[in-house]
Amino acid sequence: MSDEIFRNSFWYADAPAAPATQALEGEATADVAIVGAGYTGLSCALHLAERGARAIVLEADEIGSGASGRNNGQVIPTFSRIEPDALADSTPPEQGGRAKGEQLAQLVADSAAYTFDLIRAHGLDCDAEQRGWVQPVHSPGRVKLAERRVAAWARRGAPVEMLDRASTERITGSRFWYYGWVNRSGGRVQPLAFCRELARVAMAKGAQVFTGSRATALQRQGGRWRVSTRRGAVLAERVVIATNAYTDGLWPRLARTIFPVNSYQMASVPLPDEVRATVLPGVSACSDTQGDLHFFRLTADGRLVTGGGLVFPYDYAQRLRRRIGERVARVYPQVGAPKFDFIWHGSVGVTLDARPHAHELAPGVLAWLGCNGRGIALATSVGAQFARACLGTPLGELPLPFSPVSPVAGHAIGRRIASLALAVFRWRDKREFKALQ
Ligand SMILES: Cc1cc2nc3c(=O)[nH]c(=O)nc-3n(C[C@H](O)[C@H](O)[C@H](O)COP(=O)(O)OP(=O)(O)OC[C@H]3O[C@@H](n4cnc5c(N)ncnc54)[C@H](O)[C@@H]3O)c2cc1C
Repeated sequence: MSDEIFRNSFWYADAPAAPATQALEGEATADVAIVGAGYTGLSCALHLAERGARAIVLEADEIGSGASGRNNGQVIPTFSRIEPDALADSTPPEQGGRAKGEQLAQLVADSAAYTFDLIRAHGLDCDAEQRGWVQPVHSPGRVKLAERRVAAWARRGAPVEMLDRASTERITGSRFWYYGWVNRSGGRVQPLAFCRELARVAMAKGAQVFTGSRATALQRQGGRWRVSTRRGAVLAERVVIATNAYTDGLWPRLARTIFPVNSYQMASVPLPDEVRATVLPGVSACSDTQGDLHFFRLTADGRLVTGGGLVFPYDYAQRLRRRIGERVARVYPQVGAPKFDFIWHGSVGVTLDARPHAHELAPGVLAWLGCNGRGIALATSVGAQFARACLGTPLGELPLPFSPVSPVAGHAIGRRIASLALAVFRWRDKREFKALQ
């Protein structure tokens, strides 16, 4: 993790100040020790504090310095690489089978509404806008997929609808795509502002957050867990490891279950009023069906925030300015090739089976990893569910399949070559475009 890259992001320049925090010094006790101050950890802390439980959050760097302060801010109530029916059908019997997988799919279907309700209930100042999330379709071959998605999420009560070419153009402000579908419960937030605001309300309700306090060891001590940092320790009944793509060696083998894949983000200078009115006029956020994902959203001050992946990271700022500049000019000719004055990146937690993984690592120690790129609403929801578990709800009653930790064979090599998958996605996208010509 590079602090400088996080602090150079547009979100960092734009977000309301973080609540004052300091490093943990000496010993503290809590009902629950939470490792990681992203959406998962802070949502968990907020829900615990609301129920009168003592929660202490330990954050290695600063609030939101993981994926929660670096992402694109699209609040998306779907999975990215697995369909809800497939997820439910493939949930193993020992994890609760189809019924449990279905509960997770329902949690995701409801997750954006849940997140925006939470934001409204606590008055979080984070440029929240819930005008929907659109997934435009980039080739006729993907229209069937979009139809299947609409049917699957509609069965779970999501406010979804299929869009023909004209309505896709009307909603996105672009002629680039064929068809699309929209989920009206989705939207956008200023991601770091959302994270800092979660911390602010959690702390106001009694949770404690310590920054610059990496958890370095986790041991059993006198019937409780001892979470050590460089200059202190927390003794707690329960522990939530909320480190996701930024998971280190705190718990053996956990980091080897996930691939942290770099995603680059860029914010343009504010677009002129008449141009910004033509970009995403009917929706808050957009990410399409391509493997080399095209994604766009505006900020409150009219900047376009977009980005992408790179197979090789050398000279990334210059290459992205050219590559993504050309992309914007192609998709939004009215914008042209904008000037990008902020470029940053962060790690997305990718799992091989495209599912989020929840674990009970030991009695009283919970973790989840693997948002696969759709984690704002999911992490907020899972954090709330983990709080329920810490307050005594049996794990079997949570809408989450719990699996054993299963490290990926050849993980070290896989980590190095994970970004090569993008080359395959691009080749597949190109082939689909060619088929149109
Ligand atoms: C560039 C990018 C774009 C994305 N875009 C979107 C999007 O538009 N929509 C969407 O839904 N999702 C998106 N995501 C995914 C989303 O951001 C994540 O799923 C979500 O933020 C995960 O939250 P979290 O709290 O679980 O983890 P994180 O926010 O990553 O928090 C983990 C924290 O743990 C800390 N930590 C790690 N180890 C330790 C330790 N030993 N001790 C103490 N602290 C530790 C880290 O410093 C970090 O702050 C994106 C992700 C990235 C990186």
